[in-house]
Amino acid sequence: MRIVEMLSRPRPSVSFEFMAPRDESEVDVLERTVATLAGHAPDWVSVTYRLRTGEKTLELVTRIKRHYHIEAMAHLTCANSADRTRQILNWMEREGIANVLALRGDSQNPGERFTPADPQLTHGSDLVAFVRRNGYRFGIGAACSAEKHPESPDLDHEFRYMKLKVEAGADFLITQLFFDNRFYFDLVARARAAGITVPIVPGLMPVPSRRSLAVMTAMSGATVPVSLQAAIDRAPDEEAVRNIGVGHCIAQCAELLEAGVPGLHFYTFNRARGPIEILSALRGQQLLAS
Ligand code: FAD
Repeated sequence: MRIVEMLSRPRPSVSFEFMAPRDESEVDVLERTVATLAGHAPDWVSVTYRLRTGEKTLELVTRIKRHYHIEAMAHLTCANSADRTRQILNWMEREGIANVLALRGDSQNPGERFTPADPQLTHGSDLVAFVRRNGYRFGIGAACSAEKHPESPDLDHEFRYMKLKVEAGADFLITQLFFDNRFYFDLVARARAAGITVPIVPGLMPVPSRRSLAVMTAMSGATVPVSLQAAIDRAPDEEAVRNIGVGHCIAQCAELLEAGVPGLHFYTFNRARGPIEILSALRGQQLLAS
């Protein structure tokens, strides 16, 4: 089923993003996380893509669909040549994958700029257009930033290319993580004023640790509100940081749900505990159906 159909229902969808395992050592944790979170009734899930582990993404997406009967979307990036991209898309189609998240991708080496493998595919919008132009019938998602992308000069630049992705054929957008809902509300208001009507799903990350927060804010461009940063600075240990992160994410989700968002997309980093605590709190507050 196309994810955009789920996002058009009156009740918000819940989705989890899993990271494809980079090596065998990550497989067990991932398997346990998928099994645990599958029991918490997500409407759909997605699996990240990296050049070196691309086959694992496709295997995992197919397995989640078959074994758990949950709609699973494969991420795909501009890391491949056009020919290889076509092969991957053909494979996905044969396996019955219905949705693809078309991204540019980040460099494999932190701090380095992304280098495209093919001049036809240099940005997320190119991959969206490529999937459409080649006649594939996937539902297509694309990424957008509620705050400035680290490579962008300003938000106007960011907005222009987000619009291009929708014009190229993206059915829905998922935001990069953010910790202040005002950025999301501003983005949606600006999109609607510009005639962009596709669902814009907020991407949420409960802060897992000080270290992960530093890595993720550097990569995504997300800023941390002063009050959240102060609470993290005062936290006596990493367990307290995690609890603060979960509490902050619950408050963010509650406000987003009250504002009528089409869904909540959780960056799980292959950890189940945070998302479970957040969903349980939201269901307890009757903000989400049980
Ligand atoms: P783009 O849209 O290409 O944007 C990148 C930069 O280029 C931005 O500054 C943008 O403003 C600018 N830009 C865009 N189009 C043009 C243009 N035509 N001309 C000039 N400038 C332009 N990364 C992975 O490697 N694997 C994953 O599985 C993955 N999953 C993700 C899932 C989600 C929901 C999100 C939000 C991000 C994910 N990422 C993933 C990270 C993503 O690849 C990075 O955020 C990347 O830096 C941008 O991807 P994009 O598709 O938005 O790129």
